[in-house]
Amino acid sequence: MKIHEYQGKEILRKFGVVTPRGFPCFTVAEAVQAAEKLGAELATKVWVVKAQIHAGGRGKGGGVKVAKSLDEVRTYSSQILGMQLKTHQTGPEGQKVRRLLVEEGADIKKELYVGMVVDRVTQRVCLMASSEGGMDIEEVAAHTPEKIHKVFIDPVDGLTDVEADEVAAKIGVPFNSIAQARVMLQGLYKAFWETDASLAEINPLIVTGDGQVIALDAKMNFDSNALYRHEDIVALRDLDEEDAAEIEASKFDLSYISLDGNIGCLVNGAGLAMATMDTIKLFGAEPANFLDVGGGATTEKVTEAFKLMLSNPQVKGILVNIFGGIMRCDTIATGVVAAARETHLSVPLVVRMRGTNEDIGKQILKDSGLPIISATDMADAAQKIVAAVNA
Ligand code: ADP
Ligand code: MG
Repeated sequence: MKIHEYQGKEILRKFGVVTPRGFPCFTVAEAVQAAEKLGAELATKVWVVKAQIHAGGRGKGGGVKVAKSLDEVRTYSSQILGMQLKTHQTGPEGQKVRRLLVEEGADIKKELYVGMVVDRVTQRVCLMASSEGGMDIEEVAAHTPEKIHKVFIDPVDGLTDVEADEVAAKIGVPFNSIAQARVMLQGLYKAFWETDASLAEINPLIVTGDGQVIALDAKMNFDSNALYRHEDIVALRDLDEEDAAEIEASKFDLSYISLDGNIGCLVNGAGLAMATMDTIKLFGAEPANFLDVGGGATTEKVTEAFKLMLSNPQVKGILVNIFGGIMRCDTIATGVVAAARETHLSVPLVVRMRGTNEDIGKQILKDSGLPIISATDMADAAQKIVAAVNA
């Protein structure tokens, strides 16, 4: 689960990470009020108006503006609120801005990068840090990987003073600011650990003209398997930022991910679903979604799965690929027939099923009188749906 920058900063502050003071705002009037509130104590009279969406690269896309007066705060807020912000992480359609963060402007001397993820190989939290902050860390990793320093944190000791100081020095934190950087890195680790985060990233972490170490951006993702023990984090969920089809799918316990192609896939088992998408690509087409109906798919669940796939106007055909184990092929066949009827299916449907009660399942499809195309194996199924979609 993802959250907004301002929410991430609120969490990090609780763990001793220093951030600029700021307020989330939903209207232009609120933004100006926030700036006024900040302004009373603001020596520099510089505010930053920041679009809050669940995607990075907002600065480059025009979603982060430095304002030098309350009038500029008003102008930028009205420009950014409601805009369709396009960044390299939103896709070409962009994301509508519904919230702002208005915060105090910082005097940036150095922009650094720090991030934490779970490293599967070492099974530890990995701290990544770089002197190259403020830009795409993926670019740094691709072109100058030696500029990324990693610490694999021992879960018993946590991030030690020595480790924190060493990495801070390596990324160019000046000597007099190392103690502050240590507090901030250890705070980040504690926040990551205690919230069951899967990602915590500060890009940029800055050193100011007077040597302060401040988190200027904050990105946190959380492990959805651990959300049951973090009610406070679940409350931060912003459904406006999530794919409507994926929200609908989660209600029916379907694992569904929207993709860009035009062939809807309904599969049982994540591995088979991945293999099905690969096979579709092998024959020159693109899947419209990943969809794993899981082990206990009922007729109702299959019908919902069909509705989900068909809610995507891109979908020009559906491929059902089922391996009948505990889930019997006749159950799926009944579900598919009911779903096809209920949704008045008008795109080609290819079904491949193998395993338990395969014969009964195939008979049900045949007896339905629906124009279902039957396939014998995965290659056959993929070729048939690709041909049907391109016909
Ligand atoms: P994104 O990563 O989505 O582009 P950031 O929060 O990193 O958004 O902001 C982009 C850039 O804007 C930063 O790298 C920094 O240079 C500048 N910036 C952001 N917040 C502030 C601030 N409070 N004061 C001064 N500059 C800021
Ligand atoms: Mg950033």
